[in-house]
Amino acid sequence: MSWVTSRARPDIVALEPYRHAAWEPGLARLHANELPWRTPGDDSQDGLNRYPEPQPRALIERLAALYRSPTETLLATRGSDEAIDLLTRAFCRAGEDAVVVCPPTFGMYAAAARIQGARVVGVPLLSERGFALDAHAVLRACGSDVKLVFLCSPNNPTGNLLAAEALIPRAPNLAILRTLSKAHGLAGARLGTLIAEPDIIALLRKVIAPYAITQQTVELVLRVLGSPHLAQVRRRVGEILAERERLRGAIARSPQTIRVLPSEANFFLVRLRDPALALGRAREAGLLVRDVRGLPGLADALRVTVGTPEQNERLLEAWE
Ligand SMILES: *Cc1c(COP(=O)(O)O)cnc(C)c1O
Repeated sequence: MSWVTSRARPDIVALEPYRHAAWEPGLARLHANELPWRTPGDDSQDGLNRYPEPQPRALIERLAALYRSPTETLLATRGSDEAIDLLTRAFCRAGEDAVVVCPPTFGMYAAAARIQGARVVGVPLLSERGFALDAHAVLRACGSDVKLVFLCSPNNPTGNLLAAEALIPRAPNLAILRTLSKAHGLAGARLGTLIAEPDIIALLRKVIAPYAITQQTVELVLRVLGSPHLAQVRRRVGEILAERERLRGAIARSPQTIRVLPSEANFFLVRLRDPALALGRAREAGLLVRDVRGLPGLADALRVTVGTPEQNERLLEAWE
């Protein structure tokens, strides 16, 4: 028995997947109950009157090149949020299984588990050690009912990298989630990629909606995701990092600030004497920052995403 068939939900392993209409672009489609004409205003290349190709070949090849991983190890998802949900649904039996999360961390892991009826086991990051992963405690928490361990790096909202390689070398039970939403600037297109061994991909393909990725997203990503785009991503990441350090430095000098945390991401945490006041001041200046005070160990913290230089300047003025 493979690792996947021994750990995934037995009913999903046994599931006969839904058979979508065959994808044969050379033939006229009288098999999918689509309208044969385009709708006026539809300026897509292939026509939105047609269902898109499930797990589009050309898109998967482009993502395989981007992430330097073979096509059979990739699943394209509606953002990595959907990948979190698919993993949880495919591996956790409601009322029986559990997931491990390391708070304070990205909220969707616990949300997906609760929706699926899986128990959430929290193994806190070590706040006194810069929110480092407590790898031994994670391993101790992995009882036989634990099917997934979610590790987030750089961790959201704390911004630090996890030294996760201590815990998980490349392994048959590892799934990596990537997204075009952040550095690639395509959050609205909703495209994530799950990278894992082919038997995990095959399992998740039984669960994912057949037409998860819209034709508009497929066409946009194929048009955009080339070498000029990648050069621009590198430039913009550089700009964001420079702005992040400028903003962190300026906020650190304010008497209102207790501490600005280091960050490896396009956001950072700031601990403030009066976070409620700072939230209000930001809003009055037309700016939203994230209230993370409800998360463990962050009762005095706000999360700031690095904006344009002009927006960052406005935040500094609002917090002066
Ligand atoms: C932003 C973010 C996501 C969501 O990504 P999408 O691909 O837009 O769904 C997932 N995980 C983490 C850690 C994030 O910061």
